[in-house]
Amino acid sequence: MSTQAITVLGSTGSIGVSTLDVVARHPDKYRIVALSAHSQLDKLVEQCRVHLPRYAVLAEPAGVAELRDRLRLAGLAQIEVLAGMEALEHIASMPEVDAVMAAIVGAAGMRPTLAAARAGKRVLLANKETLVMAGRLFMDAAREGGATLLPIDSEHNAIYQCLPQPFDDGAGQGVRRILLTASGGPFRQFSGEQLAAVTPEQAVKHPNWSMGRKISVDSASLMNKGLEVIEARWLFDLAPERIEVVVHPQSVIHSMVEYVDGSVLAQLGNPDMRTPIAYGLAWPARIDAGVTPLDLFKIARLDFEAPDPQRFPCLGLAFEALRLAGAAPAVLNAANEVAVAAFLDRRLAFDAIPLLNAATMQAVAASFDAGSLASLTAADQAARQYADGWLSRHA
Ligand code: NAD
Ligand code: MG
Repeated sequence: MSTQAITVLGSTGSIGVSTLDVVARHPDKYRIVALSAHSQLDKLVEQCRVHLPRYAVLAEPAGVAELRDRLRLAGLAQIEVLAGMEALEHIASMPEVDAVMAAIVGAAGMRPTLAAARAGKRVLLANKETLVMAGRLFMDAAREGGATLLPIDSEHNAIYQCLPQPFDDGAGQGVRRILLTASGGPFRQFSGEQLAAVTPEQAVKHPNWSMGRKISVDSASLMNKGLEVIEARWLFDLAPERIEVVVHPQSVIHSMVEYVDGSVLAQLGNPDMRTPIAYGLAWPARIDAGVTPLDLFKIARLDFEAPDPQRFPCLGLAFEALRLAGAAPAVLNAANEVAVAAFLDRRLAFDAIPLLNAATMQAVAASFDAGSLASLTAADQAARQYADGWLSRHA
């Protein structure tokens, strides 16, 4: 069998680095054709040295000259340096690529991820914001393009593993609902007053997972779980009433599927993203991911509790966005990106994140539909503008 040719979008991030770690364990199976990054040139050059891609792509043209110089100095002048959205779309869709790891963070990842789906690639989907913003468009593009979608978000990967494949809800497979587990984040037991005073340093220190800064803050506010509810709604084509969030602080069960006969299937493992990444790369086969085997005696117990909508209103906002439908999820996502950046910048209190998100959704969502990429992009822009204004009024 020939090797699978892979593009990694967002290779310098947490998921990107874990992906390259798994790939490096299996040089007989995978080779890297293209890498992309935003700003960490040192890391990108080092990844180029190890993986020898054909392309290295930057989000912005600003660093191109410097990257070319550094690659030349490293004896890697043959690597082609490109920049910008069209270049990202190109490396996601070019014919010589078999699989695309979509691991850019935020709305910036949407267009290249869509390009991979349209081009019929095996899409390893980590960038949940694509599905939150453009769920229906993206699922249609993947179907029409003949893409194979493999969820990398650990919960959705777990659900995928616990569902019959191919999953067809109308075919008597007996799925009643899915149980999306949530760690509860670092502030699970904090009071309302404590939540008002938390710092960015506390918020990015997740108890179980090591992740990028944006998703870590989202995990702390439960917005991440909300985004994942929307993600699940589109990936598995399930009505929101059939998605239940269960707080499970140990993060050992990555999610579950409940069947009509009373069976509940769960996928367990250590909280290490290399498991879902390896699953996505090798599916339907399995490969070694370098993950420590689960030691149930050491874990000893598994706990479950209901999420608290009072202290963590972001989860409810996601269900509200699904109820409002149209561009509401895209608006919520954009507002939240502004809110998280402001919180990390110490311009917004942690407990004001849901306030900003709710106000923006209420003010902006109804003016846009989800029928086209243009409309969703306009909704995203309008939401960011509204959120910026809200921030300056509440500073
Ligand atoms: P990260 O911040 O560690 O990395 C983000 C990557 O995207 C980096 O390579 C960065 O250079 C690139 N990037 C950032 N802004 C960009 C822009 N404007 N244009 C192009 N590239 C840009 O993030 P992460 O934790 O690796 O998460 C990546 C995605 O995977 C997110 O959508 C996140 O929700 C999802 N995800 C992550 C985890 C995890 O464990 N880290 C788990 C589930 C899902
Ligand atoms: Mg997740």
